[in-house]
Amino acid sequence: MTQKYESYIAGRWVGGKSFSPDENPSDLDNPVGEFADADAADVAEAAAAAKVAQRAWAATTPQQRADILDRIGSEILARKEELGRLLAMEEGKRLPESMGEAARAGQIFKFFAGEALRIPGERLASTRPGVDIEITREPVGVVGIIAPWNFPLAIPAWKIAPALAYGNSVVFKPAESVPACAWALAEIISRAGVPDGVFNLVIGTGGVVGKAIVDAPEIDALSFTGSVATGNRLLQDAAARGLKIQLEMGGKNPLVVMADADLDQAVRCAIDGAFFSTGQRCTASSRLIVERPVYDAFVERMQKAMQALKVGPALAGDTDIGPVASARQFEQDRSYIQIGRDEGARLLWGGETVDVGPRGYYLQPTLFEARPDHRISVEEIFGPVACVMPADDYEHALSLANDTRYGLCGGICTTSLRHTTHFKRHAQVGMVMVNLPTAGVDPHVAFGGRKGSSYGPREQGRYAAEFYTTVKTAYTAA
Ligand code: ADP
Repeated sequence: MTQKYESYIAGRWVGGKSFSPDENPSDLDNPVGEFADADAADVAEAAAAAKVAQRAWAATTPQQRADILDRIGSEILARKEELGRLLAMEEGKRLPESMGEAARAGQIFKFFAGEALRIPGERLASTRPGVDIEITREPVGVVGIIAPWNFPLAIPAWKIAPALAYGNSVVFKPAESVPACAWALAEIISRAGVPDGVFNLVIGTGGVVGKAIVDAPEIDALSFTGSVATGNRLLQDAAARGLKIQLEMGGKNPLVVMADADLDQAVRCAIDGAFFSTGQRCTASSRLIVERPVYDAFVERMQKAMQALKVGPALAGDTDIGPVASARQFEQDRSYIQIGRDEGARLLWGGETVDVGPRGYYLQPTLFEARPDHRISVEEIFGPVACVMPADDYEHALSLANDTRYGLCGGICTTSLRHTTHFKRHAQVGMVMVNLPTAGVDPHVAFGGRKGSSYGPREQGRYAAEFYTTVKTAYTAA
């Protein structure tokens, strides 16, 4: 029997009027299941329930919330292999990375279990005699969460866990292509002691369910991760109704390779950053900027390393690069490869689809030598497609790195302290990596970018409190 994934609203599992297939990108003939399409009425019910439930949830003790979040984290960690397999099947991320992501989701819940006990405040003397000032943090209320498909467990975790830790209630919509991961997470949350209505999962399309979340009057704040186009639209909608909003959108992240770098380390960083997780990370290294003296040697080693990467099903033990996650993304990647060819970028490796046996969205990791003004160097592709370009010297490399509308992360491979220090100060990004892939971040520190990549407060670590709480300043005279 086909597995059916339903929404979870006001403490009940709710079927839809229609069901849509949940595809397995590694094997299109063996879908993961079906999910129930929710509609605007389901969102209205979820938002109303969340509004009612939030007051009592905010009044629970920090210890009660910590215990619940800790329980959720423990179960996720105990089941990381099973959850990792589900993620691998549904999103196409190869199994070791999928299991790592499941473990990450568990750790995030445990981190925010601790944060529930450490909600910060301040006490200051007033400028007026006899007056004390207290600054406290309160929940924002009902938080709408709209998540993408590329980290279907970790990203929902790093939004849901702080929302609950700080006393908010949640209406969560996963991306269309990953309902099973969202369902598995909701199923764990539903048994952890979270009161009915505090956490709601509404599965459906962006145009219907996503839009209804943004429009629901009960929603006080919206956390979104996804494309620039959708993010910008949500920003307009949120501004029109004064909604607190946090957006994580695209990236076109540079990895600078200096002539003084350890070249093998630089190639490992580039391969991991550009192609692991099939290049489907907003932190992916999609622009490789290499100082001229080592340019040819770097390209040659990249080609050799790429040749050795095995494209295959997410669950196969010898797979290095899993399938592209969906038909839509597969089309987008291939169309950018064609654009690269048409605009005269030089294809150095890849560019073709791969027949691995089962029908799926298999694509070779692809490297172009491209000019900085080529569309493939400018626009986010979000697939296993990277560009490499030479730089005359460090200053040129830095200016190329910063010459983008995005600013999520930037990396440099170098053995020079001078270059390291300068790059850390002058890269126009939210996150800098030195001698590391641009992708791969820790769960307990701030995540986010600048320029067109992000809007609003940072996510993760104790910085999450900026978005999920609101500050109150109280003056008391004796
Ligand atoms: P991608 O192109 O990578 O799928 P999207 O920005 O389209 O990125 O999707 C990210 C999330 O935003 C998904 O959960 C999607 O359903 C949701 N979404 C898409 N369009 C809208 C919309 N108009 N309103 C609200 N949410 C939307």
